[in-house]
Formats: sequence, C-alpha cells, structure tokens
Amino acid sequence: MSAKHKVLLPQPIEKEAHEYLVQNNCEVIVCSKCEHDEVAEKIADAEAVVLRTGIKITRDLMEKGKNLKTISRTGAGVDNVDLDAATEHRVVVTSSLGANTTSVIEHALMFILALSKNTIKIDSEVRKGNFKVRYQNLSSDVREKTLGFIGFGRIGSGLARICHDSFAMKIIANDDYLPDHVKKSFSDWVEFTDIDAVLGKSDYISIHVPLTKETKDLVDYSRIKKMKKNAFLINTSRGGIINEKDLVKALKEGVIAGAGLDVFENEPIENESELLKMENVILSPHTAALTVECTLRMAMEGVKRVVNYFNGLPHENVANPAVLDL
Ligand code: NAD
Repeated sequence: MSAKHKVLLPQPIEKEAHEYLVQNNCEVIVCSKCEHDEVAEKIADAEAVVLRTGIKITRDLMEKGKNLKTISRTGAGVDNVDLDAATEHRVVVTSSLGANTTSVIEHALMFILALSKNTIKIDSEVRKGNFKVRYQNLSSDVREKTLGFIGFGRIGSGLARICHDSFAMKIIANDDYLPDHVKKSFSDWVEFTDIDAVLGKSDYISIHVPLTKETKDLVDYSRIKKMKKNAFLINTSRGGIINEKDLVKALKEGVIAGAGLDVFENEPIENESELLKMENVILSPHTAALTVECTLRMAMEGVKRVVNYFNGLPHENVANPAVLDL
C-alpha cells in the first residue's frame, strides 16, 4: 500500500467521518485546541485539511503548509479560507455546498415562526404564572404576509418555496447574480426587484448571500430604516452582512420589530453585546447547520472529497476554480 496521506483536522469531526479517513489510507492529525499556533505547527506535514469554522486558514498558515494540496470545508461558506493565497499556493479549496441547505432552511423558518408567534416572550410569561398573557394577542400570523429575500440561491429559494406553498406568503427577492433564465423559472410566484424595494415592502427579510467585500455591511442603518416598523430581519448567512452596531441602534429605536440571528460579526458574540439583552431578538450560536443529521452529512462529504482527491477523481465544488488552470 502507498504511504498514508496526512490529513489535518483543526477541530474534531464526526466519528464516522474520521473513521472513513482512516479506512481510506489517511493518517489523521488532530489539533487539541484549534488555535493558530498549534495549527501552524501541524499544518506543516499535512496534504489536506478538513476544515470546520473554528479557524481561518490564512496566508501565513498556507505558507507553512508546504505539502498542502487541498482544503475541504465541511460547510458551504469558504470565508474562513484565504482563497487568493490558496490559489497562489496551488491548494484546491472545496466545500460541502448544498449539504446543509435543508437544515438552514428549517432554522430560518424557525426564526420566522418564533418571531411571529413571540415564542420566547410568551413562554417566559407562562413560566412566571401569567397565563393571562393569552389575552394580549402577542402573536401574529405569517399567512399571506410578504417574505423578502436578499440572495435567492439554494437556501433562499428553498425557504421561499416552503413559505409560499404552505402559508401563501408573497415572495419578493433581490439577487443580481442569479442568471435571467433562473429568475424566469421563478416568475410565476417570485417578484425580483432591487434591494431597497425588498426592504421596503417585506414583513420579513431573510438574508442568504455569501459574505464578500460587496456584501459586507450590505444591510446598514440607512437600509434598515427602509424596512417596515413591524418587520423582522433574519440572518442565517454570515455575520458582517448586517452591520451589527446599526442593527442594535435600529432595534433600540424601534425602527423594526425584531430580529432572528444565527451569525454575528464576531463569533462567539461578545458578552457585552446589547443584542443579548433584547427581548425582541432571538439568537442562536451559528447552529443552523449543526443538526445531528446535517453535521454528519457535511463531515462525510468533506472527507469523501479529500479521499477522492487522493484517488485522482475529478474535483467537486471547487471554490477557487482558477487553481485548476495552473
Ligand atoms: P448559494 O450560493 O446557493 O446562494 C447565494 C446566492 O446569493 C446566489 O444566488 C448569489 O447570486 C446571491 N448573491 C451573491 N451576492 C449577492 C449580492 N451582493 N446581492 C444579492 N444576491 C447575491 O448559497 P446558499 O447555499 O443559499 O447559502 C447562502 C449563504 O448561507 C452561504 O454563502 C453561507 O455563507 C450561508 N450559510 C450559513 C450557514 C449557517 O450555519 N448559518 C449554513 C450554510 C450556509
């Protein structure tokens, strides 16, 4: 048998996925802390990294990975890899695009429903003995309301379909990168328009774009100001797309009704963040894709791409395709 391929895991992955690597001629190197210095030391030997979200593979880490050939993200986003540096170092970066789509859709839907039904507030009132809270009509229906999207790819369009079919919600969306023929395929039930119109007309805005230079701070105070006073803002994409300081200011001023956030500018969210004190905000710790089923699915896809790479099979879901032309 040929020499074992060394695969670095900055964070542990599911047992089945770990074993898959071992069974497929890989020597697995595990970090104990997922910290820069340990990864910097251990990446020196690695041919592949199977990467979760705990650390960014920066240019300097890439330079230390003298034998590094591929980085395989267990998730969909690749913002924790310096893609330019990867391409320069001829490192193929791949991701588990689509493996977490349905789980994130469910999570965004949970935010929409929990915000509408005022679940957290009502639950806490019942626990305090205030059963009479039922007479306050603190919840509202989603049926026939307008659901607006920024980003209409896999997750956005999947969530839209469910909300349209199940709750007769009106769907409007902004996605300037979606090809016209794709937009046309949705034309019976989706209105595509500019971002400000989406913000202005929607009762719920759900964000599903990648974090890029262009989408950083895409939703700032001036944009939140365009939203309806009773609207909710939901972000399961990436922190930094909504300017968090601006969101806090807008929520304090009652510019919008509330927010559901899975992702934050800094993760973990700072203890001092005012979001932690707000009753009209529902928070989750970047767990939209971390269901039991999805975690396993993503890890298995991540390790299979690495093994396929070592076996000379064609690359799948390459995030830096320019590397293939080098
Ligand atoms: P996708 O690539 O299928 O869709 C993204 C869409 O955004 C595309 O249609 C693209 O055209 C559009 N877009 C890009 N830039 C835009 C812009 N400036 N304005 C408007 N539209 C723009 O991706 P997806 O699978 O739907 O995932 C969306 C994002 O969700 C990912 O980029 C990822 O960062 C995030 N995500 C988060 C979690 C989580 O755990 N919270 C899990 C999976 C994905």
